[in-house]
Amino acid sequence: MSRLALKVDVDTLRGYTCGVPRLLDLFAKHRIRASIFFSFGPDNSGKAIRRIFRPGFVSKMLRTKAPSTYGWKTLMYGTLLPAPLIVPSDPSILRRAYDEGHETGVHAWDHVYLQDRLGGVSKEEYLSLYEKARALYAGICGRDPDIVAAPGWQVSRAVLEAEQELGVAWASDVRGFSPFLPRFEGRDYRVPQIPTTLPTMDEIYGLPGINDVTLPKAWLDGMDKEWNVLTLHAEMEGISKLTLLENFLNMARALGVEFHTLGEYAKEAPLPRCAIVAGKLEGRAGRLALQQEIPAEER
Ligand SMILES: [Zn+2]
Repeated sequence: MSRLALKVDVDTLRGYTCGVPRLLDLFAKHRIRASIFFSFGPDNSGKAIRRIFRPGFVSKMLRTKAPSTYGWKTLMYGTLLPAPLIVPSDPSILRRAYDEGHETGVHAWDHVYLQDRLGGVSKEEYLSLYEKARALYAGICGRDPDIVAAPGWQVSRAVLEAEQELGVAWASDVRGFSPFLPRFEGRDYRVPQIPTTLPTMDEIYGLPGINDVTLPKAWLDGMDKEWNVLTLHAEMEGISKLTLLENFLNMARALGVEFHTLGEYAKEAPLPRCAIVAGKLEGRAGRLALQQEIPAEER
């Protein structure tokens, strides 16, 4: 019997206001607890258009039908339209996720800013952006957040140091194969990483043979690890692909898959020391943080 934990990234205002409530309805119906990471501040999605100059970005936008997934308005936020604040637009949505028992944490204050400039963001700047999200979260949920997930699977020394300084319980910043304690650029860190193990919908949807009917099976076939984690995007699985997600959940249940949370993994899984390295994944533009095994003699 395999295990699966669902992680949800909320990147945009539309994903937050439209996608999250529908995902919460679906999770309630299926009695699933998920781990949901929110972008709190400005939705600067329009600025992501800068990534058009990166290899792979245009083909991904076309393959995933980005304009209809994200909505044209979203693609203009921060450029032609002012950037709206995400969580302050309706604090009751975050509160509902919290009240319904989901693990909730910080994805970013400004997703586009952090994803595009992470290498240039100092620990102090990261902490000051995090503080804005923390204050909002605390005002809404009545306690501080204690879990984080980096936007775009980007880490840096500054981010890992900040997470350690903040004392977060665990982080989900990378792509990999099982929970671990990270070593990055030769330094060891204490905050466990719970990596995403499965490809995301936007990475594989539209590839040859992968469509609305076949994607659930592709995910099920990919669940060959002991600690499987699937990342969903509120903008996609929460809106236009909600039916596909429900089909997947039904198929998984029928096969006896057990649903867990990333936080449960952090408590139950062994945490060997593994490296985080920069690398590429099929279907995703640019480089991202990948888990890599460390030979026994170097651990
Ligand atoms: Zn994200």
